[in-house]
Amino acid sequence: MKRCILFVCALLVSQWTMSQVLVEAESFAEKGGWVTDHQAFEKIHSSYLMAHGLGRPVKDAVTSVSFAEGGKYHLYVSTYNWTAPWYKGKGPGAFQVLVNGRLLQAELGVTGNQWEWQYAGEVTIGKGAAQIALHDLTGFNGRVDALYFTKVKEAPIADYPTFALERLRLLGYKQPKQVSGADLVVIGGGIAGCATALTAARYGLSVVLVDNLPWLGGNHALGVRANGLMFENLYPELGNITCQILNAKVSDKNNPEAYFVRENRTGYIRSYQPIPNLRDYMGPVSTLMQQADDNVSMVERRNLTRSEQNQNNNEYRRKQQAAIRKALLEEAGVAIYQHVHAYKVVTEEGQIKSVTGKHLQSGEEFQFEGKLFVDCTGDGVIGYLAGAEYRIGRESKAYAQEPSAPEQEDQKKMGMSMHWYAYPRENPGTFPTVEELPWAMPCTKESASKVSQWSWEWETGLEVDNATQAELARDNYFRAVFGNWAYLKNNEERFNGYRLDYMQYIGMKRESRRIMGDLVLTENDIVNRVKYPDASFTTTWTMDLHYATAKQVKYFKGWEWLTYCTNGREVWIDPYHVPYRCLYAKDIANLFIGGRCMSVTHQALGTVRVQATLGMAGEVIGMAASICAKRGVLPRDVYQTYLKDLKKLMRAGAPLQ
Ligand SMILES: Cc1cc2nc3c(=O)[nH]c(=O)nc-3n(C[C@H](O)[C@H](O)[C@H](O)COP(=O)(O)OP(=O)(O)OC[C@H]3O[C@@H](n4cnc5c(N)ncnc54)[C@H](O)[C@@H]3O)c2cc1C
Repeated sequence: MKRCILFVCALLVSQWTMSQVLVEAESFAEKGGWVTDHQAFEKIHSSYLMAHGLGRPVKDAVTSVSFAEGGKYHLYVSTYNWTAPWYKGKGPGAFQVLVNGRLLQAELGVTGNQWEWQYAGEVTIGKGAAQIALHDLTGFNGRVDALYFTKVKEAPIADYPTFALERLRLLGYKQPKQVSGADLVVIGGGIAGCATALTAARYGLSVVLVDNLPWLGGNHALGVRANGLMFENLYPELGNITCQILNAKVSDKNNPEAYFVRENRTGYIRSYQPIPNLRDYMGPVSTLMQQADDNVSMVERRNLTRSEQNQNNNEYRRKQQAAIRKALLEEAGVAIYQHVHAYKVVTEEGQIKSVTGKHLQSGEEFQFEGKLFVDCTGDGVIGYLAGAEYRIGRESKAYAQEPSAPEQEDQKKMGMSMHWYAYPRENPGTFPTVEELPWAMPCTKESASKVSQWSWEWETGLEVDNATQAELARDNYFRAVFGNWAYLKNNEERFNGYRLDYMQYIGMKRESRRIMGDLVLTENDIVNRVKYPDASFTTTWTMDLHYATAKQVKYFKGWEWLTYCTNGREVWIDPYHVPYRCLYAKDIANLFIGGRCMSVTHQALGTVRVQATLGMAGEVIGMAASICAKRGVLPRDVYQTYLKDLKKLMRAGAPLQ
């Protein structure tokens, strides 16, 4: 049956007479306590709203929708019973829908085992504007992708990829908006992507930067520190742009005193983060910095516990650092597309022609065309979609004879983490018991972690494909925090007076697909200090990898949530200069690969993955891209023919303005 559907954004009034109306949840005018999440994009081709209330029902999300025709409508809601992978009973994400203040009785989001359209009931709506509200019942992460009102009792197409095409067509975005003419399109705005984009722009390239978060900086913007020494470089001027992107003082880059450094037992240096100094940039971004200071002191003035003050201050600083980063990139002329999720790649004769992304609030699509592309998504999304060879998980010993590799290859990888905090409160309230949350981790005296806040070892998705199953890994983290807190709050006296008050909902990822380049860096290269002619940026961190603890394997096999790092057992390294050939895809001629999806084995990722190091790799990519633009060549040609040019640029360092 040919469907006639109207997609309605918040407050948008339809001009047509229609018998079906679709409302995207993420476009609700007032989101109340619901948050926008994109981590199921690979499944449903959309973002969605989630009632992230830490067990306390959140405020309704409300919007106004115009109905061109009055009458009786059936309502279907696209939702997901998110605990279904682990628990067969009624799920916790219950919510209801109100239309013009009338509550539809159906409790949604508590059955089924995949994203699907659930029937909410029948409702009579008059012609004109109607108010729609999402009413959360539990605060335990109920989700709504879209609401579909239809006069015929028939659910929309169940297959989400097929439905996505229809969503787009009927949303009125007939063709993606063309963004063409870029010398370089960088996808992924973490530290790697930002450093790449800023470097290339400083050499005069026209650069587009695409990222799917609302803040630039990837993991850094979500709350991860930046490590990696910059004073042991083969090319001492590498790192200048990275300092700017990290808001650290460039003049301190080569000064060991400016780092928090510790010597290890064998005398090698272990680096901590370059100390950020926002005061280094008083030029065009000084107003932003003033705002950052105001925000922070405003928080400090409030009567909070020390740990809460730290958390709040860090959050403000991160947001302001992201704003400063954005200002620097804009000042250099980079065209920034934030909140845009790249999901489609068109190739021709082994080269990428365009990348298409969808805006996660408006649903609008953009097609980015360019001469060169950089995959800095961390998930290797662009390389994967272009058909590049990639690896995920641990290589076997046979692959590259790495001493630390397992005999058999497997899917073990580092996982994702999120900040969470519980604070002492005057009125801490209650929290359900372990028995009352049968879908959460069944924590006990032996298996619970007796802490009131996250730390790096809280980590899930250790055997999940973090690129395509981000929602699953993140949901497992929810189960861990809720199950653990249910145990502590109700069984450990010292936590009685605490309330679980903060948890992120976007996972910070450590490891995913790695795209294969002309050279795949291995543990042997690093420990044997193999010298390559194209040695470029320098890695100094140890080979630091994370695995589930034995206790976790015992109690939560397959869904572990606490890890140890190879700390103490890791391979300590001398500073090592990584070859340029790890920074472009071997089988997609115009694709650079930056950040944690560069061409390395799982073992070698353990050292290059820290942010200052990845920033410097980004600078090398930006320099190589400038050579490609100047000479009209491709990334491989820089190695084969123009290596001297690259070395010259690395020696000089990228322009600081
Ligand atoms: C909990 C945790 C603790 C860590 N601790 C440290 C530490 O102490 N020090 C340190 O230096 N490093 C640390 N790391 C490692 C470090 O954070 C990462 O290796 C680093 O951030 C990777 O940088 P990146 O730019 O490659 O990727 P990311 O920071 O992951 O950035 C990738 C960006 O691309 C975006 N993106 C992904 N897919 C798409 C798409 N399809 N379309 C558009 N955008 C997309 C992402 O949302 C993100 O913004 C830690 C990591 C984690 C998770």
